[in-house]
Order: sequence, then structure tokens, then C-alpha cells
Amino acid sequence: MELGMTELTDLQFDQQHLWHPYTSMTQPLPAFKVKKAYGAIIELEDGRQLIDGMSSWWCAIHGYNHPELNQAVSDQLQNMSHIMFGGFTHDPAIQLGRLLLEITPPSLTKIFYADSGSVAVEVALKMAVQFWHAQGQPQKTNFVTPRSGYHGDTWNAMSVCDPVTGMHQIFGSSLPNRIFVPAPQTGFHEPWNQSDIAALENTLAQHHSSIAGLIIEPIVQGAGGMRFYHPEYLRQAKLLCEKYQILLIFDEIATGFGRTGKLFAWEHAAVEPDIMCIGKGLTGGYMTLSATLATTQVAETISQGEAGVFMHGPTFMANPLACAVALKSTQLLLSQDWQGNIQRIERQLEAALSPLATLEHVQNVRVLGAIGVVELKFNVNMKALQQEFVQRGIWVRPFGKLVYVMPPYIISEQELKILLEQLAEVVKDMEQAA
Ligand SMILES: *Cc1c(COP(=O)(O)O)cnc(C)c1O
Repeated sequence: MELGMTELTDLQFDQQHLWHPYTSMTQPLPAFKVKKAYGAIIELEDGRQLIDGMSSWWCAIHGYNHPELNQAVSDQLQNMSHIMFGGFTHDPAIQLGRLLLEITPPSLTKIFYADSGSVAVEVALKMAVQFWHAQGQPQKTNFVTPRSGYHGDTWNAMSVCDPVTGMHQIFGSSLPNRIFVPAPQTGFHEPWNQSDIAALENTLAQHHSSIAGLIIEPIVQGAGGMRFYHPEYLRQAKLLCEKYQILLIFDEIATGFGRTGKLFAWEHAAVEPDIMCIGKGLTGGYMTLSATLATTQVAETISQGEAGVFMHGPTFMANPLACAVALKSTQLLLSQDWQGNIQRIERQLEAALSPLATLEHVQNVRVLGAIGVVELKFNVNMKALQQEFVQRGIWVRPFGKLVYVMPPYIISEQELKILLEQLAEVVKDMEQAA
């Protein structure tokens, strides 16, 4: 018998009534109740403190409860938390825009603010379709993308995610059919293998007349497999896009703001896209905000098309609170030796994780910037493992075969040491269990 709502404990209410990301409503994974978070520490309601290895999914780059970010939010709150962007503009949007144009690819000049990463991807895809429509090529509406990608959970963003991990078959004909090529195979540190680009080349040669854009996460494929691939793939993809008249869209939502060791991952290849999406770390994890940046050519072509405008305008576009904290977060990042700091984290990740590669049940260990990945030979038991990590005082949330960390940049050497020691012990113990 179901209890009346008022008789439920908070955790029971949560289990019975609140959906969590990618979770069953009949057999939900346990959720731990958080009281507060500060620096690299997440404090549970029962007082237990966890060292954060996830940055709340790439977002909290400066850690939690940062005094300067708090100040930026409360200062902006005194003026206005929100005002419609239709017909109005404001300082937070303008100052953030000025800064973003300084740090993103020089060819990108026009910024569309949106409210989440997935929406930024929707906006990018719509821009590409409107661009070709305005060019008199209305048949160019499809997209090509590598397997193992992840671009968000809304309809069209989902359509360009990996079809297997994204379970495309259950959505049937309601999901547009995209053109998939194999994921890049040459690893970031491996010698480039020219055959790696052949599938993309053949596909573009065959289908270019129906393709509006190529969407890809530069260098690091995130939630679709945590794979690091060779920069030459992007250089060759760019040449192919030019040859076959296809817009190149970079999804930097996970890779942006220093995570891979460069401010944005396109810099590893020095290849500029036509359209680029950013999000996640943009506000330092304080609020939801994303942006889609485009070249002058893309923006002007769209504006000269039949509609005369770009057909999108979210209610919370350029939300002033979110823009203000994004501005402060980005200034904070740039005001410090962020690159040296990421290298410090990278060295520590390498030293602590590389020895795990010799374990029988470990497939591969890889590190790039402030991202460390241990890929196992079997799928992990997420529920058991998450409990185990919490008991050991760390927050790591594995998925599939992957146990990985991307800690906040402010994590101290000592905190990171404990995080990685505990993680390594859990991975080693799995040998006995396997
Ligand atoms: C998280 C993510 C998205 C989606 O962002 P949301 O804010 O969750 O909608 C899109 N692309 C990439 C590469 C991401 O990592």
C-alpha cells in the first residue's frame, strides 16, 4: 500500500515522486541528500563530507559556494534577476558577450544565448538548416556525426547522439534519421592514421547534397564514451566540410573553459568551426546558461533568407543573473594561471591512474587535462559502486564501463590525492569481484 504523501520521509517522497536523470521510477538508484557544498566538498545531510570528482557534470569548475561568484549573483539580484531579451538588452549580456568573443575562435562573431546545452545544440542545428535554405539549397537539412557522440536530450540533439547508447530504436520514426560515421579511432596521443577519416570522406562524397552540417565534440567525446581522439581528425574534417559545402559545428559544451588543457578544445587542432556551442562550465555551475556562436557569414546569410530572422527566442534568453555569474566565472578563470593548474591536476591524474592500466580487468586508462578515465572490461554495478565511493568519502559516478573523474579546478593537491587513492582502491578491489 502506498503511504500518504505526508507520511513519507523526504527520501521516500523523492524516490516515489521525483524523477532523477536516466533513472527508473520503479527501481530508482538511491539518491543521497545534500545539505551544502563548498570548495571541492559536498556535505550530505548526515554530515558526511565527500570530495567531489564530478564538478556536477563538468559545470562547477571553481568548486561550490565561491565567494566571488556568490557576490556576482547577489549584486545582479539587486538590479534585476530577469528581463525579457526581446526589445531590451543589459550589461551582463553585453559584457559577457565581449569577453566570449575574445576567447572563442576569431571567426565567430555572433552570439545566441540559450538556456541549456541541449537548446544550444537545437539552435546550432536550426541555424545550419536556415543557412542552407537562405542559400537556395533547402534540401540540405540532414546532419552527419560520428558514433559515440553526445549532444543533449532534446529531440534533435538526441537525434545526433550515439544511436545505440541513445536507444534510438525505441523512438522509432519520431526521431529524425541522421547519418552516422564511425567514431574517430586514433587516440589523442597516438600517431595519426590517415584511414581514420575515410568513412567521413566517403559519406560526405555520397550524401553531401542532403547534409547541412557536421556536428562533433572536438577532441573529447564526453558522455558518449569519454574518448580522446587525434586533432588531425578535425583538421581533415574541416577540409572535407569546405570541399563538400557543409557547415562545421563544434559542441564545446563539455570541453570548454579549460577542461582539456586548452581554454577550448578546438585550439588543440587550430580549426575554427562555423558554429560553436558552449554551456556547462560557462556559469561555473551556478545557473543554467548556454550560447551558440556563429560566423558573420552564417548570421548574415540567415538574416537575408526568406524568414529574414533566426527563428528562435527562448523566454529566459540572456537571463541577467546567469550572464552576470558567467561573466564573473570566466573572468575568475582567466585571472589565474588556469593552464598551470590544469597541468597540475593532469600530472596527478596520470601518476595515480596510470598504474591501474596493468590490472587484468582494466581495458584502458586515459588522461587529458583535468579529465581522468579508467575503462573497465565489463559494465560496472553503478549502484554498488556509488555506495562504495560515498562510504570512502568521495563522489564519483561511473557509467557503463567507465569510472572517471573531472574534479573542480580548485581541488587541492591533498583532496585530489585522497580522491584518487580511494578510487584506485575501489577499482583494484573490483578484480576480486569480477
Ligand atoms: C551535457 C552536454 C550537452 C547537453 O547539455 P544540457 O545542459 O544537459 O542540455 C550537450 N553536448 C555535450 C557535449 C554535453 O556534454
